[in-house]
Amino acid sequence: MKTKTIEERFWAMVRKSDGCWAWTGSLNGKGYGQIATKRGSRPLLSHRLSWEIHFGPISNGMCVCHKCDNPSCVRPDHLFLGTITDNDKDRDEKGRTEKGDRHHNATLTAALVIECRRRYWIDGVLLRQLSSEMGVTVGALGQAIRGETWQHVPFDPECLAAMTRWKDIHPLTRKVLRRNERELNAAGTIHEWEAALQ
Ligand SMILES: [Zn+2]
Repeated sequence: MKTKTIEERFWAMVRKSDGCWAWTGSLNGKGYGQIATKRGSRPLLSHRLSWEIHFGPISNGMCVCHKCDNPSCVRPDHLFLGTITDNDKDRDEKGRTEKGDRHHNATLTAALVIECRRRYWIDGVLLRQLSSEMGVTVGALGQAIRGETWQHVPFDPECLAAMTRWKDIHPLTRKVLRRNERELNAAGTIHEWEAALQ
């Protein structure tokens, strides 16, 4: 039996339409389609794979961006090649950041998540109070505060200190926090990390 090529596997997970072409395979945390490759290596992003199938290799440092603002779309004429800076600019013009802002809750932003985490973990403000202030549901905000969503936003070191007990009982979040601690170490302080986001 012949193993399927990556291209065949790609097409098996595309649902074409007059508008966006939906990726029916798995999505990553940012809403981009992904496709597994070799065991142990990172999955390929399906919109990037689509670009390569239609237009050829992507040069180093280039991003494949969406004209349609739909991260899971793989339709080649909805994609354009940009530099990292174009991609950031594109995000700004669309009034969002690429990561959590779009998928988890429209009214939360990375800065608000950082603020809510601080107020919840350090100042002891109730989730219900924060939820009504931010206009976000208790469920969505609780997930963001616990790091189940907005995983790309590192926890403030002071939050981490306040969270010790909780960390012990949530293996999934422990993993997130460990990664965040590494990112924080690399970025210096949360403020530097935030500045680097701009
Ligand atoms: Zn599209």
